[in-house]
Amino acid sequence: MTSPLEQVNAESIPLAGLLIGEEERTAIGRVLASGMLAQGPEVAAFEAEFSRHVWGRPCVAVNSGTSGLLLGLLAIGIRPGDEVIVPSFSFAATANAVALSGARPVFVDIEPTHFCIDPAAVLAAIGEHTAAIMPVHLYGHPAAMDRLTEIARTHGLDLVEDATQAHLASLDNQPVGTFGSVAAFSFYATKNMTTGGEGGLVVCADELIARRVRLLRNQGMDRRNTNEIVGYNARMTDLQAAIGRVQLRRLPEWTAARRRNAKFLTAGLQQLVHQDRLLVPQAAPSAQPVWHQYTVRAQQRHQLAATLAGLGVQTRIYYPTPIHRLPAFDLHLDLPQTAAAAREVLSLPVHPALSIANRERIVSAVAQALTE
Ligand SMILES: *Cc1c(COP(=O)(O)O)cnc(C)c1O
Repeated sequence: MTSPLEQVNAESIPLAGLLIGEEERTAIGRVLASGMLAQGPEVAAFEAEFSRHVWGRPCVAVNSGTSGLLLGLLAIGIRPGDEVIVPSFSFAATANAVALSGARPVFVDIEPTHFCIDPAAVLAAIGEHTAAIMPVHLYGHPAAMDRLTEIARTHGLDLVEDATQAHLASLDNQPVGTFGSVAAFSFYATKNMTTGGEGGLVVCADELIARRVRLLRNQGMDRRNTNEIVGYNARMTDLQAAIGRVQLRRLPEWTAARRRNAKFLTAGLQQLVHQDRLLVPQAAPSAQPVWHQYTVRAQQRHQLAATLAGLGVQTRIYYPTPIHRLPAFDLHLDLPQTAAAAREVLSLPVHPALSIANRERIVSAVAQALTE
């Protein structure tokens, strides 16, 4: 391990690490040279290649994860008057997509161990207007899809997966994206893979839903001048898809690196878990998370974050305000686990660009912060 002095002088370890290389540049060059930049053969190839990771389900690439969620909801028939049950401990986009579909997001609590939607809370929130349940595989950890699938089936509800943080995560070796009627992935710059800054993709349970998502993506038209429904422009470009195809090929290797990094952090941090000052994240026994974020709980997280910043380790709070408390929704609800998580969480760097020295520095910096 490095000495404290070296730590102070060293360059800061960023919370997210972008891995864009020569292959991506070559791919962009190929598309630019073709002169065809908009949605075309690269998008089709990207969809087919992504589909292999989700048991061959039909995939429709779009311009963002939020568009993916919205188009997915609309494609399965969610409409005004419907209610969709969502966790309040997530990024606002989860609830925004529901609200933009015209339905009402019904916010429920999370499980304290994995930060994902609590199936018991879902069950308690089901009413006559409930149309769907939208779990979020938060931080790359799969939600309890086994129990949620059972609940959805019993009550005749759709499952919509917010898989925007969970590319290649699985539960009992079933990949996320294959549980719901639809699932949305995001390729925003800081997600586990990117299509060059923005991008998304909808995984569909069947070809009928996929066709509706394709229509909604492109002004409601399948063939020119025959617009069947009212739709959006939510298309991905071939430039984006070309980057995505390279990134997707490298994703398994990056996912393995995230898992190694998480394992290293947990091994090092577990020894510091005393007096409840720090709790390390734990995966459910049947879960294979992909560590989009490595998120600890700390009673004094602002002090911890400040010390880590001084030692050159960037951290961030995902998310300090539960969605239902944001001005956009402004609801008063009793969601104790959500409130506690919002008060205590702090994410440490876990991305695949971390070096072995980086990992060691993160652990020693946390150790130093906790002894202060
Ligand atoms: C990133 C994210 C989204 C939205 O994805 P975009 O591609 O940014 O639109 C939705 N839900 C969650 C939980 C996210 O983290």
